[in-house]
Amino acid sequence: KLARHMSTMKAVVVERIGGPEVLEYKDHPKPQVSSGKILVKNHAIGVNFIDTYHRSGVYPLPTPFVPGREGSGEVVEVGEGVSDFKVGDRVAYVDAESYAEYTAVNSLAAGKIPDNVSYDDATALLLQGLTAWTMVRDGYPVKKGDYVLVHAAAGGVGLLLCQMANLLGATVIGTVSTEEKAALAKENGAHHTINYSHEDTVARVNEITNGQGCHAVLDGVGASTWETSLQSVRRLGTLISFGNASGVVPPIQISCLSDKSIKLMRPKLFSYLATREDKEKWFNELFQLQAEHKLKLRVHKTYKLEDAQSAHVDIQSRKTTGKLLIEL
Ligand code: NDP
Repeated sequence: KLARHMSTMKAVVVERIGGPEVLEYKDHPKPQVSSGKILVKNHAIGVNFIDTYHRSGVYPLPTPFVPGREGSGEVVEVGEGVSDFKVGDRVAYVDAESYAEYTAVNSLAAGKIPDNVSYDDATALLLQGLTAWTMVRDGYPVKKGDYVLVHAAAGGVGLLLCQMANLLGATVIGTVSTEEKAALAKENGAHHTINYSHEDTVARVNEITNGQGCHAVLDGVGASTWETSLQSVRRLGTLISFGNASGVVPPIQISCLSDKSIKLMRPKLFSYLATREDKEKWFNELFQLQAEHKLKLRVHKTYKLEDAQSAHVDIQSRKTTGKLLIEL
Protein backbone atom coordinates (compact mmCIF):
# COMPACT_ATOMS: atom_id res chain seq x y z
CA LYS A 1 0.00 0.00 0.00
CA LEU A 2 1.15 3.52 -0.75
CA ALA A 3 2.06 5.60 2.26
CA ARG A 4 -0.53 8.31 2.93
CA HIS A 5 1.94 11.19 2.79
CA MET A 6 3.33 10.09 -0.57
CA SER A 7 2.11 12.14 -3.48
CA THR A 8 0.33 9.96 -6.03
CA MET A 9 -0.81 10.26 -9.61
CA LYS A 10 -2.70 8.15 -12.14
CA ALA A 11 -0.50 5.93 -14.27
CA VAL A 12 -0.54 2.73 -16.28
CA VAL A 13 1.55 0.11 -14.50
CA VAL A 14 2.81 -3.30 -15.63
CA GLU A 15 3.27 -5.63 -12.65
CA ARG A 16 3.74 -8.83 -14.69
CA ILE A 17 4.52 -9.19 -18.36
CA GLY A 18 1.81 -10.45 -20.71
CA GLY A 19 -0.93 -9.34 -23.11
CA PRO A 20 -2.66 -5.93 -23.17
CA GLU A 21 -4.64 -6.96 -20.05
CA VAL A 22 -1.55 -6.48 -17.85
CA LEU A 23 -1.70 -2.70 -18.44
CA GLU A 24 -3.29 -1.53 -15.18
CA TYR A 25 -4.57 2.03 -14.75
CA LYS A 26 -4.06 2.90 -11.09
CA ASP A 27 -2.63 5.21 -8.44
CA HIS A 28 1.14 5.27 -8.52
CA PRO A 29 3.79 7.34 -6.73
CA LYS A 30 4.50 10.63 -8.49
CA PRO A 31 8.14 10.50 -9.64
CA GLN A 32 10.82 12.48 -7.78
CA VAL A 33 13.03 14.79 -9.81
CA SER A 34 16.62 13.76 -9.31
CA SER A 35 19.68 15.54 -10.59
CA GLY A 36 19.76 16.05 -14.37
CA LYS A 37 16.01 15.47 -14.71
CA ILE A 38 12.90 17.54 -15.29
CA LEU A 39 9.38 16.69 -14.14
CA VAL A 40 6.88 16.93 -16.99
CA LYS A 41 3.09 17.17 -16.56
CA ASN A 42 2.06 15.18 -19.62
CA HIS A 43 -0.52 16.47 -22.11
CA ALA A 44 0.06 13.91 -24.89
CA ILE A 45 1.65 10.48 -24.79
CA GLY A 46 2.87 8.55 -27.82
CA VAL A 47 1.96 4.88 -28.27
CA ASN A 48 4.76 3.01 -30.02
CA PHE A 49 5.37 -0.60 -30.93
CA ILE A 50 8.25 -0.70 -28.41
CA ASP A 51 5.64 -0.32 -25.63
CA THR A 52 4.21 -3.71 -26.64
CA TYR A 53 7.70 -5.29 -26.54
CA HIS A 54 8.21 -4.01 -22.99
CA ARG A 55 4.74 -5.19 -21.93
CA SER A 56 5.15 -8.67 -23.45
CA GLY A 57 8.77 -9.20 -22.41
CA VAL A 58 10.34 -9.16 -25.91
CA TYR A 59 12.53 -6.35 -24.49
CA PRO A 60 12.73 -7.38 -20.81
CA LEU A 61 12.36 -4.76 -18.05
CA PRO A 62 12.24 -5.34 -14.30
CA THR A 63 8.63 -5.19 -13.00
CA PRO A 64 6.75 -3.21 -11.90
CA PHE A 65 7.25 -0.48 -14.48
CA VAL A 66 5.38 2.33 -16.17
CA PRO A 67 5.52 1.73 -19.94
CA GLY A 68 5.73 4.38 -22.65
CA ARG A 69 8.76 5.99 -24.22
CA GLU A 70 7.36 9.24 -25.57
CA GLY A 71 5.36 12.21 -24.38
CA SER A 72 5.02 15.95 -24.19
CA GLY A 73 3.82 18.49 -21.69
CA GLU A 74 4.92 21.34 -19.46
CA VAL A 75 7.91 21.37 -17.16
CA VAL A 76 6.69 21.65 -13.55
CA GLU A 77 9.95 21.03 -11.69
CA VAL A 78 13.62 21.20 -12.61
CA GLY A 79 16.28 18.99 -11.02
CA GLU A 80 19.73 20.03 -9.90
CA GLY A 81 22.24 20.67 -12.66
CA VAL A 82 19.66 21.30 -15.38
CA SER A 83 20.26 24.66 -17.05
CA ASP A 84 18.52 24.27 -20.40
CA PHE A 85 14.92 24.03 -19.11
CA LYS A 86 12.77 26.07 -16.75
CA VAL A 87 9.36 25.65 -15.14
CA GLY A 88 6.65 26.37 -17.73
CA ASP A 89 8.63 25.27 -20.80
CA ARG A 90 6.68 23.21 -23.33
CA VAL A 91 8.70 20.07 -24.06
CA ALA A 92 8.52 16.78 -25.93
CA TYR A 93 10.65 13.84 -24.91
CA VAL A 94 11.56 10.24 -25.65
CA ASP A 95 12.96 7.43 -23.52
CA ALA A 96 11.09 7.83 -20.21
CA GLU A 97 8.11 6.25 -18.42
CA SER A 98 5.39 8.20 -20.17
CA TYR A 99 2.04 6.39 -19.56
CA ALA A 100 1.39 8.60 -16.52
CA GLU A 101 0.20 12.02 -15.45
CA TYR A 102 3.79 13.03 -14.62
CA THR A 103 7.11 11.76 -15.95
CA ALA A 104 10.64 12.43 -14.70
CA VAL A 105 12.66 12.90 -17.86
CA ASN A 106 16.41 12.99 -18.34
CA SER A 107 16.96 16.49 -19.73
CA LEU A 108 19.08 14.92 -22.48
CA ALA A 109 16.02 13.15 -23.85
CA ALA A 110 13.84 16.28 -24.07
CA GLY A 111 13.55 19.24 -26.40
CA LYS A 112 11.52 22.45 -26.38
CA ILE A 113 8.50 22.42 -28.66
CA PRO A 114 8.39 25.32 -31.13
CA ASP A 115 5.61 27.83 -30.21
CA ASN A 116 3.42 27.06 -33.19
CA VAL A 117 3.49 23.27 -32.67
CA SER A 118 0.80 21.61 -30.52
CA TYR A 119 1.52 18.92 -27.93
CA ASP A 120 -0.36 16.41 -30.08
CA ASP A 121 1.66 17.21 -33.21
CA ALA A 122 4.98 17.15 -31.36
CA THR A 123 4.13 13.74 -29.93
CA ALA A 124 2.80 12.42 -33.23
CA LEU A 125 6.13 13.34 -34.79
CA LEU A 126 8.91 12.91 -32.30
CA LEU A 127 9.87 9.27 -31.71
CA GLN A 128 8.77 7.87 -35.05
CA GLY A 129 10.07 10.95 -36.89
CA LEU A 130 13.49 10.74 -35.24
CA THR A 131 13.62 7.01 -36.00
CA ALA A 132 12.82 7.64 -39.65
CA TRP A 133 15.04 10.71 -40.08
CA THR A 134 18.16 9.18 -38.46
CA MET A 135 17.65 6.14 -40.69
CA VAL A 136 17.45 8.02 -44.01
CA ARG A 137 20.20 10.51 -43.09
CA ASP A 138 22.68 8.32 -41.23
CA GLY A 139 21.74 4.61 -41.41
CA TYR A 140 21.56 4.89 -45.17
CA PRO A 141 21.96 8.46 -46.46
CA VAL A 142 19.25 8.44 -49.12
CA LYS A 143 20.08 10.33 -52.30
CA LYS A 144 18.40 11.29 -55.53
CA GLY A 145 17.86 8.36 -57.85
CA ASP A 146 17.92 5.66 -55.15
CA TYR A 147 15.33 2.93 -54.85
CA VAL A 148 14.22 2.53 -51.23
CA LEU A 149 11.94 -0.25 -49.96
CA VAL A 150 9.89 0.62 -46.85
CA HIS A 151 8.02 -2.20 -45.10
CA ALA A 152 4.75 -1.48 -43.24
CA ALA A 153 4.65 1.74 -45.26
CA ALA A 154 1.31 2.91 -43.81
CA GLY A 155 2.40 2.49 -40.18
CA GLY A 156 3.63 5.22 -37.85
CA VAL A 157 7.31 5.06 -38.82
CA GLY A 158 6.39 3.87 -42.34
CA LEU A 159 4.39 6.94 -43.42
CA LEU A 160 7.19 9.22 -42.24
CA LEU A 161 9.85 7.10 -43.97
CA CYS A 162 7.92 7.30 -47.26
CA GLN A 163 7.69 11.08 -47.00
CA MET A 164 11.32 11.55 -46.02
CA ALA A 165 12.84 9.17 -48.59
CA ASN A 166 10.68 10.84 -51.26
CA LEU A 167 11.82 14.28 -50.08
CA LEU A 168 15.44 13.17 -50.45
CA GLY A 169 14.81 12.18 -54.07
CA ALA A 170 14.38 8.40 -53.88
CA THR A 171 11.89 6.24 -55.71
CA VAL A 172 9.98 4.78 -52.78
CA ILE A 173 8.44 1.31 -52.79
CA GLY A 174 6.16 0.59 -49.83
CA THR A 175 4.81 -2.75 -48.66
CA VAL A 176 1.35 -2.87 -47.05
CA SER A 177 -1.27 -5.45 -46.11
CA THR A 178 -4.41 -3.79 -47.51
CA GLU A 179 -5.50 -1.65 -50.46
CA GLU A 180 -6.52 1.20 -48.11
CA LYS A 181 -2.99 1.22 -46.70
CA ALA A 182 -1.58 1.20 -50.25
CA ALA A 183 -3.57 4.34 -51.09
CA LEU A 184 -2.40 6.05 -47.92
CA ALA A 185 1.26 5.14 -48.52
CA LYS A 186 0.94 6.66 -52.01
CA GLU A 187 -0.56 9.85 -50.59
CA ASN A 188 2.50 10.04 -48.33
CA GLY A 189 5.22 9.70 -50.93
CA ALA A 190 5.41 6.04 -51.98
CA HIS A 191 5.73 5.80 -55.78
CA HIS A 192 4.92 2.08 -55.85
CA THR A 193 3.19 -0.18 -53.36
CA ILE A 194 3.26 -3.94 -52.93
CA ASN A 195 0.49 -5.70 -51.06
CA TYR A 196 2.68 -8.29 -49.34
CA SER A 197 -0.33 -10.24 -48.10
CA HIS A 198 -0.79 -11.64 -51.65
CA GLU A 199 1.91 -10.24 -53.97
CA ASP A 200 5.46 -11.57 -54.39
CA THR A 201 7.58 -8.75 -52.94
CA VAL A 202 10.89 -9.81 -54.50
CA ALA A 203 9.37 -10.26 -57.98
CA ARG A 204 7.69 -6.85 -57.81
CA VAL A 205 10.88 -5.18 -56.54
CA ASN A 206 12.82 -6.71 -59.44
CA GLU A 207 10.20 -5.55 -61.90
CA ILE A 208 10.32 -1.97 -60.57
CA THR A 209 14.14 -1.80 -60.31
CA ASN A 210 14.97 -3.57 -63.59
CA GLY A 211 16.26 -6.58 -61.71
CA GLN A 212 18.78 -4.53 -59.69
CA GLY A 213 17.06 -4.46 -56.29
CA CYS A 214 16.95 -1.55 -53.86
CA HIS A 215 19.77 0.66 -52.58
CA ALA A 216 18.20 0.44 -49.14
CA VAL A 217 15.61 -1.78 -47.50
CA LEU A 218 14.09 -0.39 -44.28
CA ASP A 219 12.49 -3.23 -42.34
CA GLY A 220 10.59 -2.74 -39.08
CA VAL A 221 8.45 -5.85 -39.59
CA GLY A 222 11.20 -8.32 -38.66
CA ALA A 223 10.72 -12.09 -38.69
CA SER A 224 8.19 -12.37 -41.53
CA THR A 225 10.03 -10.06 -43.95
CA TRP A 226 13.70 -10.83 -43.25
CA GLU A 227 14.16 -13.19 -46.23
CA THR A 228 12.40 -10.96 -48.75
CA SER A 229 14.34 -7.97 -47.42
CA LEU A 230 17.63 -9.76 -47.98
CA GLN A 231 16.57 -10.66 -51.51
CA SER A 232 15.33 -7.16 -52.29
CA VAL A 233 18.64 -5.38 -51.54
CA ARG A 234 20.87 -4.69 -54.52
CA ARG A 235 24.58 -5.47 -54.79
CA LEU A 236 26.47 -3.23 -52.29
CA GLY A 237 23.13 -2.11 -50.85
CA THR A 238 22.04 -1.56 -47.24
CA LEU A 239 19.55 -3.49 -45.14
CA ILE A 240 18.34 -1.78 -41.99
CA SER A 241 16.42 -4.08 -39.67
CA PHE A 242 14.88 -1.73 -37.12
CA GLY A 243 12.04 -3.62 -35.48
CA ASN A 244 10.10 -6.80 -34.77
CA ALA A 245 6.39 -6.09 -35.35
CA SER A 246 5.89 -9.66 -36.65
CA GLY A 247 8.42 -11.25 -34.28
CA VAL A 248 12.16 -11.14 -33.66
CA VAL A 249 14.43 -11.98 -36.63
CA PRO A 250 15.99 -15.40 -35.90
CA PRO A 251 19.81 -15.61 -35.59
CA ILE A 252 21.49 -15.30 -38.99
CA GLN A 253 24.67 -16.55 -40.63
CA ILE A 254 26.72 -13.43 -41.27
CA SER A 255 27.80 -14.95 -44.59
CA CYS A 256 24.26 -14.41 -45.92
CA LEU A 257 25.41 -10.84 -46.60
CA SER A 258 28.44 -11.75 -48.67
CA ASP A 259 27.02 -12.61 -52.09
CA LYS A 260 25.95 -9.01 -52.62
CA SER A 261 28.32 -7.42 -50.02
CA ILE A 262 25.31 -6.07 -48.14
CA LYS A 263 25.68 -3.65 -45.24
CA LEU A 264 23.40 -4.64 -42.36
CA MET A 265 22.37 -2.23 -39.58
CA ARG A 266 20.25 -2.78 -36.49
CA PRO A 267 19.67 0.70 -35.02
CA LYS A 268 18.15 1.80 -31.74
CA LEU A 269 16.99 5.41 -31.76
CA PHE A 270 18.28 6.18 -28.28
CA SER A 271 21.91 5.70 -29.33
CA TYR A 272 21.46 8.72 -31.63
CA LEU A 273 20.50 10.87 -28.65
CA ALA A 274 23.27 9.95 -26.22
CA THR A 275 24.92 13.39 -26.08
CA ARG A 276 23.41 16.88 -25.86
CA GLU A 277 24.95 17.84 -29.23
CA ASP A 278 23.52 14.78 -30.99
CA LYS A 279 20.11 15.27 -29.42
CA GLU A 280 19.98 18.92 -30.44
CA LYS A 281 21.07 18.18 -33.99
CA TRP A 282 18.38 15.54 -34.58
CA PHE A 283 15.56 17.33 -32.69
CA ASN A 284 16.33 20.60 -34.53
CA GLU A 285 16.45 18.98 -37.95
CA LEU A 286 13.14 17.21 -37.36
CA PHE A 287 11.29 20.27 -36.04
CA GLN A 288 12.80 22.30 -38.91
CA LEU A 289 11.27 19.91 -41.45
CA GLN A 290 7.94 20.36 -39.71
CA ALA A 291 8.28 24.15 -39.57
CA GLU A 292 8.86 24.10 -43.33
CA HIS A 293 5.62 22.10 -43.72
CA LYS A 294 7.52 19.23 -45.33
CA LEU A 295 5.84 16.53 -43.25
CA LYS A 296 2.21 15.47 -43.01
CA LEU A 297 1.18 13.99 -39.69
CA ARG A 298 -1.54 11.40 -39.46
CA VAL A 299 -3.11 10.52 -36.12
CA HIS A 300 -4.99 7.24 -36.32
CA LYS A 301 -6.81 7.64 -33.01
CA THR A 302 -6.59 9.42 -29.67
CA TYR A 303 -7.13 7.42 -26.47
CA LYS A 304 -7.58 8.21 -22.78
CA LEU A 305 -4.86 7.05 -20.40
CA GLU A 306 -7.29 4.55 -18.85
CA ASP A 307 -7.77 3.02 -22.32
CA ALA A 308 -4.12 2.08 -22.89
CA GLN A 309 -5.17 -1.57 -23.25
CA SER A 310 -7.25 -0.74 -26.35
CA ALA A 311 -4.36 1.20 -27.84
CA HIS A 312 -2.13 -1.89 -27.51
CA VAL A 313 -4.79 -4.21 -28.95
CA ASP A 314 -5.17 -1.82 -31.89
CA ILE A 315 -1.48 -1.25 -32.71
CA GLN A 316 -0.90 -5.02 -32.71
CA SER A 317 -3.98 -5.71 -34.84
CA ARG A 318 -2.40 -4.38 -38.09
CA LYS A 319 -5.52 -2.22 -38.52
CA THR A 320 -3.95 1.11 -37.59
CA THR A 321 -2.27 3.67 -39.83
CA GLY A 322 -0.06 6.52 -38.64
CA LYS A 323 0.18 7.51 -34.98
CA LEU A 324 -1.73 6.40 -31.88
CA LEU A 325 -1.86 9.07 -29.18
CA ILE A 326 -3.00 9.21 -25.57
CA GLU A 327 -4.32 12.63 -24.51
CA LEU A 328 -4.52 13.90 -20.94
P1 NDP B 1 3.38 0.55 -36.94
O1 NDP B 1 2.37 1.63 -36.93
O2 NDP B 1 4.28 0.46 -38.13
O3 NDP B 1 2.65 -0.83 -36.73
C1 NDP B 1 3.26 -2.03 -37.10
C2 NDP B 1 2.91 -2.44 -38.53
O4 NDP B 1 3.69 -3.59 -38.85
C3 NDP B 1 1.47 -2.87 -38.69
O5 NDP B 1 0.58 -1.83 -38.92
C4 NDP B 1 1.57 -3.82 -39.87
O6 NDP B 1 1.42 -3.13 -41.11
C5 NDP B 1 3.01 -4.35 -39.80
N1 NDP B 1 3.02 -5.77 -39.42
C6 NDP B 1 3.43 -6.77 -40.22
N2 NDP B 1 3.28 -7.95 -39.61
C7 NDP B 1 2.75 -7.71 -38.39
C8 NDP B 1 2.33 -8.53 -37.31
N3 NDP B 1 2.46 -9.87 -37.37
N4 NDP B 1 1.80 -7.95 -36.22
C9 NDP B 1 1.68 -6.63 -36.14
N5 NDP B 1 2.06 -5.79 -37.14
C10 NDP B 1 2.59 -6.32 -38.26
O7 NDP B 1 4.28 0.66 -35.62
P2 NDP B 1 5.43 1.74 -35.30
O8 NDP B 1 5.48 2.77 -36.34
O9 NDP B 1 5.29 2.15 -33.87
O10 NDP B 1 6.76 0.86 -35.37
C11 NDP B 1 7.15 0.25 -36.59
C12 NDP B 1 8.38 -0.59 -36.32
O11 NDP B 1 9.48 0.27 -36.04
C13 NDP B 1 8.25 -1.51 -35.12
O12 NDP B 1 8.88 -2.73 -35.39
C14 NDP B 1 9.02 -0.76 -34.05
O13 NDP B 1 9.53 -1.59 -33.08
C15 NDP B 1 10.13 -0.17 -34.89
N6 NDP B 1 10.80 0.98 -34.26
C16 NDP B 1 12.14 0.87 -34.01
C17 NDP B 1 12.82 1.88 -33.44
C18 NDP B 1 14.27 1.76 -33.23
O14 NDP B 1 14.88 2.59 -32.57
N7 NDP B 1 14.91 0.74 -33.74
C19 NDP B 1 12.14 3.11 -32.97
C20 NDP B 1 10.74 3.15 -33.34
C21 NDP B 1 10.09 2.11 -33.94
P3 NDP B 1 0.83 -4.00 -42.38
O15 NDP B 1 -0.50 -4.50 -41.91
O16 NDP B 1 0.75 -3.04 -43.49
O17 NDP B 1 1.80 -5.10 -42.58
